Amino acid sequence: MKRERVLVIEDESDILELLRFNLKKEGYEVDTATDGERGVDFARTRAYDVVLLDLMLPGIDGLEVCRRLRSDPRSETLPVIMVTSKGEEADILVGLGIGADDYVTKPFSVKELLARIRVVLRRARTQSGNRTDRRPVARGGIELDPVRHQVDVDGVPVLFTLAEFRLLHFLMRHEGRVFSRTELLPHVVGDGVVVVDRNIDVHVRNVRKKLGDTRMHHVVTVRGVGYKFESAPVGMSNLG
Ligand code: CA
Repeated sequence: MKRERVLVIEDESDILELLRFNLKKEGYEVDTATDGERGVDFARTRAYDVVLLDLMLPGIDGLEVCRRLRSDPRSETLPVIMVTSKGEEADILVGLGIGADDYVTKPFSVKELLARIRVVLRRARTQSGNRTDRRPVARGGIELDPVRHQVDVDGVPVLFTLAEFRLLHFLMRHEGRVFSRTELLPHVVGDGVVVVDRNIDVHVRNVRKKLGDTRMHHVVTVRGVGYKFESAPVGMSNLG
């Protein structure tokens, strides 16, 4: 199994070393950043499974770091655990409000922190980006509302199965990016779905059929690779 990667953003060197030592002992790969700017930069350009974020940092503080992570598609679903000092309860509430997943207060027990990390990682694996899953998306004449499970094609509601809905939603949220069938599958099956056809092509065909002649070409076949969504595709020639 691939080792999970933790980014620790913390300016106090003794805490940083304590965390690094214990996380490595637990089998995680660990990167560290001692200020917020660098932390945001790392989180956006490297692949992590979870971020431990100190609140009081030189330069931009932990709350601003969290805000920036959440506002960038490259890091918007990255799990964040805030590490705060006692007496920062107001900050904790703000942090949770802007999308932090959990928090621990200093002085923390390493055992407890490791347990929190495991919980957050497990949740992230089963939800695969639940936070962004609930935001409506509108592109290329297609409007999709995850909360109401509703798809409007040029203003007309169209009924989608859960698998079709998830597939279209995932592609729309990552417009322009090509995904292989293997990459798409977990986002279509998701959690809580008992029976779905594991053949992505079948779902794509159904999605296109429901989008109709004027909108089906937004779901583009990239030969030999997979599928992507384009709100302004070059032409119909890519339809597969
Ligand atoms: Ca600090």
